[in-house]
Amino acid sequence: MTDYDLVIRGGSVVSATDVTECDVAIKDGRIVALGRDFADGADTIDATGKWILPGGIDSHCHIEQESSMGVWTADDFCSGTVAAACGGTTTIIPFAAQYKGQSLRRVVQDYHARAEAKAVIDYAFHLIISDPTAAVLGQELPALIKDGYTSFKIYTTYESLKLDDRQILEVLAVARREGAMVMVHAENHDIIAWLSERLLAAGHAAPKYHGVAHAAVAEREATHRAISLAEIVDVPLLIVHVSGHEAIEQIRWAQSKGLRVYGETCPQYLFLTAADMDQPGFAGAMCMCSPPPRDKANQEAVWRGLQSRVFQVFSSDHAPYRYDDPEGKLRAGDRTTFKTVANGVPGIELRLPLLFSEGVMKGRISMSHFVELTATNAAKLYGLYPRKGTIAVGADADIAIWDQSRETTVTLDLLHENMDYTPYEGMTLQGWPTTVISRGEVIVDDGDVAASRGRGQFLPCDLPEPARPAAGPRWAATDGFDPTGNR
Ligand SMILES: [Zn+2]
Repeated sequence: MTDYDLVIRGGSVVSATDVTECDVAIKDGRIVALGRDFADGADTIDATGKWILPGGIDSHCHIEQESSMGVWTADDFCSGTVAAACGGTTTIIPFAAQYKGQSLRRVVQDYHARAEAKAVIDYAFHLIISDPTAAVLGQELPALIKDGYTSFKIYTTYESLKLDDRQILEVLAVARREGAMVMVHAENHDIIAWLSERLLAAGHAAPKYHGVAHAAVAEREATHRAISLAEIVDVPLLIVHVSGHEAIEQIRWAQSKGLRVYGETCPQYLFLTAADMDQPGFAGAMCMCSPPPRDKANQEAVWRGLQSRVFQVFSSDHAPYRYDDPEGKLRAGDRTTFKTVANGVPGIELRLPLLFSEGVMKGRISMSHFVELTATNAAKLYGLYPRKGTIAVGADADIAIWDQSRETTVTLDLLHENMDYTPYEGMTLQGWPTTVISRGEVIVDDGDVAASRGRGQFLPCDLPEPARPAAGPRWAATDGFDPTGNR
């Protein structure tokens, strides 16, 4: 008789604050003890010389989602979660995306139907609010927040998604009253539309002009504006997929003022540049995403933003569209221009190996900081902590065992994404998550996937810690007037 279902022996357990040499004992899907000299479990893993990390949380990924251009992502909830797991991620927070005229509740039901039978790891949902009608803001959104959908993304660009400033204020006021976290895609729509029209009129249709149209100034302006709107409403705000120093400066400025402004960046801003969009024919489309990759100096700025904690979250923004596919990036055929190419790059599988190799193994960030950026902070910012995002007694046994001696050359064949390319082809990475455990179950073992379809569970989220309504009124206007009308 043994007390434990699984014991992991001999590794170095990493949290966002500590590295501890200890064993991990697991029972009924949870971590029940950390220490030494446990009796063997029903199963025992020898992790001598390896790193025991919390499974990653990918808090920004688009799975089985129809884009604003009407193109479906290549990964569904099966291939997307298998790929995530193989890259050391054990929780995803994809989007349930509303388009204009749709009921938010209905959208959420649709995404549940897609995920339920397919997901192999646990998942929560962010909402995307594109149609903030009175019914959505007055009834559907508050009810959904209470049901565990406590974060949502808004857009300042894309014709079918963008909100104007007035609408953003109304949405932020609901977030403030209900205690939800707002994520914003910050790019100035009119700048991009105007530049795009001029570029196309001049015959500049190649993918590299996507980078010109999505100017860094457009990102900077919208970032500053979103921060200002959040400041007026007095609500936390997370700026997603930040591409470079122009937007970083705005976030750092806001943080230095004491505003609850958070930042997220992604692998494409560390490992790709605008030059990757400048390839023969339309091959540059493979590296097109929004905001676009910038240049080497901006890559360095993003590294510094990670190191100095301007960024709290490192996620993939996995938006997988196949390249040479009638449903993919080139679906407009010979009418293809940078405006018809679906925006997005894959990254759900390589997010963690890329940062582990180039961040931790090259000495840019510590092992604990890696955990903070890839798991713990997302759990805290989106209301999943401490069930997810840490290795602690009582937490779900979601664990990735990393072998830092494993050297891997990235090829498309290696990956489980339903893609026909990877932007990271040919990179040699040091360190790999060789064993991945979800709620105590080994689902990836040295490249073998043993995760049954549909085993993943939906995670209703608590109110995110930074967004929970304060005990007393936060509004500091001298006359006591609260423009949000909430208190
Ligand atoms: Zn976005």
